[in-house]
Amino acid sequence: MAPASSANVYCTNATDKEISYANNSSLQKKVQLKTRPFLEYTIKDMLSKMVHVPCIKVADLGCASGPNTFFPTCEVMDIIASVCRQAHWESPELQVFLNDLPQNDFNTVFKSIPAFNGKPCFIAGVAGSFYQRLFPSKSIHFVHSSYSLHWLSKSSPPNVSKAYSGQFRNDFSRFLHFRSEEMITEGRMLLTFIGRSSTDPTSKDCCAIWDLFTKSLLDLVAKGLVHESDIDSFNVPYYYPCEEEMREIIEKERSFALDKLEIFEMNWDFEDDVFNENFEKSRSGRNVANCIRAITESMIASHFGEAIIDDLFSRFAQHVGEHLSCEKTKYYVTIVVSMTMK
Ligand code: SAH
Repeated sequence: MAPASSANVYCTNATDKEISYANNSSLQKKVQLKTRPFLEYTIKDMLSKMVHVPCIKVADLGCASGPNTFFPTCEVMDIIASVCRQAHWESPELQVFLNDLPQNDFNTVFKSIPAFNGKPCFIAGVAGSFYQRLFPSKSIHFVHSSYSLHWLSKSSPPNVSKAYSGQFRNDFSRFLHFRSEEMITEGRMLLTFIGRSSTDPTSKDCCAIWDLFTKSLLDLVAKGLVHESDIDSFNVPYYYPCEEEMREIIEKERSFALDKLEIFEMNWDFEDDVFNENFEKSRSGRNVANCIRAITESMIASHFGEAIIDDLFSRFAQHVGEHLSCEKTKYYVTIVVSMTMK
């Protein structure tokens, strides 16, 4: 099977789906809240060093559709407004480009653009892969991307971890290269994505969740609903890099200076911290399964067919619930990187 290109098949679940991304992205929202101080640091530092411009151009790459889509925009606007108020500057206008793959539910995004309380913020949608050029040369001041860059541009051949790391190296270098063409000198970039804490690409951080997913698929093989060969030819197009890899790629590509890199851990279940005392394995399992389903359903349905989806994810929820009742999972290692364009 030829590796599927993410630009053709994958997108998060639209709002009209039973398990939509909009209703199942609390984990990603939590990540955005946690990275708020980085956003503030990056924007403030950028403004302090930048010559005053009438319009600041911002790109949010991998915006999806749902409540998280406008969160970075609103935050950037608030931070700029507060800096300008304190410095007695006139607030610049803001132009925000929301980018995602063409299949993203942009209709919902456009229908839900907030009013911004009369503040000068102009929103545009840009459909296309961030592994190619998206904007005119030297036009963007600030690039933001949250929980999107661990998606590769295509799936790698089966069971070859080297192929995955090579694909990531290639994709991420291209990403940096294209952004460097589109951004102004001294422009800023803030990237947040899932990584791993160990240099070993087969560590739990990367594999535990997909092992449980494979277990759920194998349950369906046992019931005769899935062919084992289809599992062998299925590869998720995600890669969770480690800090060392990131630093090396950024350094080698040479367009950006790395200002700040931090790592924090997230539980698989976004409610885990809150409900720690009265943990319910079925509820936790369902939270995690729905979060994964809202992201992966389109690619799983296109490979295995629609018919297995409900059964597969209810088994997955069970396996995850069991796992969570034995072990706490702080496995979503989240890497945040703030960079300046040289
Ligand atoms: N930023 C949002 C969405 C994260 S989900 C949030 O924090 O909640 C990841 C998003 O990245 C998905 O909507 C997916 O379609 C998008 N994505 C993945 N690969 C992409 C690519 N190559 N180009 C543009 N968007 C991509």
